[in-house]
Amino acid sequence: MSLDWPAIDRWLMGEAWVGSQIERHLAMLCQQIGPRWSSSAGERQAVAYIRDRMAAAGLTDARLDDFPLDTWEHGQATAAVIANGQMANDRPIDLLPLLYCPPVDLRGPLVDVGFGMPHEVAPVKEQLSDAIAIVNLSPEPFSAPKPLADRLWSLRDAGAVAAVVVERKSGGRMEYHSATEWRTSGELEHPLPTVATSREDGARLRALAAAGRSVALTVPSRAYRATGTNTVADLPGAQWPDEWLVIGAHHDTVPDSPGGNDNASGTSVVLELARVLSLLRQEQGVAPGCSIRFLTFGAEEQALQGSYAYVARHHSSGPLPRLALNLDELAAGPIKGIVLQFPHLRPLIQGTLDTLGEGLQCHVLAHLDASSDWFPFARRGIPSALPWRWRFVGRHPDADFHHEPGDTADKVRPRELREYVGLLARLLLRLSHVPPADWPANTLCVDDIKARLKDELGTVPRTM
Ligand SMILES: [Zn+2]
Repeated sequence: MSLDWPAIDRWLMGEAWVGSQIERHLAMLCQQIGPRWSSSAGERQAVAYIRDRMAAAGLTDARLDDFPLDTWEHGQATAAVIANGQMANDRPIDLLPLLYCPPVDLRGPLVDVGFGMPHEVAPVKEQLSDAIAIVNLSPEPFSAPKPLADRLWSLRDAGAVAAVVVERKSGGRMEYHSATEWRTSGELEHPLPTVATSREDGARLRALAAAGRSVALTVPSRAYRATGTNTVADLPGAQWPDEWLVIGAHHDTVPDSPGGNDNASGTSVVLELARVLSLLRQEQGVAPGCSIRFLTFGAEEQALQGSYAYVARHHSSGPLPRLALNLDELAAGPIKGIVLQFPHLRPLIQGTLDTLGEGLQCHVLAHLDASSDWFPFARRGIPSALPWRWRFVGRHPDADFHHEPGDTADKVRPRELREYVGLLARLLLRLSHVPPADWPANTLCVDDIKARLKDELGTVPRTM
């Protein structure tokens, strides 16, 4: 089939721009629905909306895909300073439990361990028995960074009974963090009960530790079984309907966050890609060559349980998708290219990007990355990718909002998302027309990937 790519490109960029529903999706997801913790009423409203938009766009079999979920809830954590055996009547200390923190009700002396590196823990080892350790969230500057989970394990081994991690962001901002290593496939149990405090109250707690004070720490929380939901919708290929490209984004958020950047941005772009590619078929008669599946995941913020469930249900056997592209936090800056988890598709993807004439680059990540939903795909040996964007490093002054109440819809730049939609639609359509025989063989072996993961534990992935 010969396709008029300049005409198709003009149509896709134009429709992504003038027909855009990005603002409508952001208003619905972030403002009307709000926080979308997987298993909550907010998630159920969001997935119903996403399924309805996919069906309205003319996709095939737009549906909800439920999965059993190990979830968790918490109340207000407190740390009361004990003065002369009594609780002191101070301003409350900012505290937020790390995800899946078990219930806590204990007292202990505060011990400052800096960044929690071996040279800092060893000199205070005697004091750490039954103590509450104060540790920086950030890794120590200059030395090889150790993951937070590893630093927490070393505190537990030294006898600490709880840890308070000090935020890296300032101005009282606190976000939900994980105390566990997600590369070991979704371990939820904390090394020791861990809560976060603001950078400012971290300084207060450190002054109390220096004065030899103790605190009474409480965390009301509960872990339980519930149901999370993914959404699935298909655009069948005209030439190779049994070959697949997959594009997904998580729709869920942490508690209390409207999830603008993380991840109404990615979810809106998935909805828009489905709409423009479906409309191209209806109005211009140009269908994808292979089939394209559009997914949104629940429970990304809960150790990737939604994407694990999707991969286990749909890809335990049979042919694997040619590529899975995952969109997460697209509000941090404009698209610069594509990042692959494995190298074998690099020439094909770079060559295809070159035909767009937009200067987009393809790179390959040096480590496997468990920080988003591409990880369960990668573990299964499915070639997976992210857009390369300006995460954390700052194209925009508010590029670091996620996992917190301030991650509102105004952090998202609809103009940039329209560009993501136009460029990714052009890329996906081109990739769908690469004949199956022209895709490099997928030589990824699950056992090799497991061995590589084992080697990489204890290191911090380089993500920029
Ligand atoms: Zn995210």
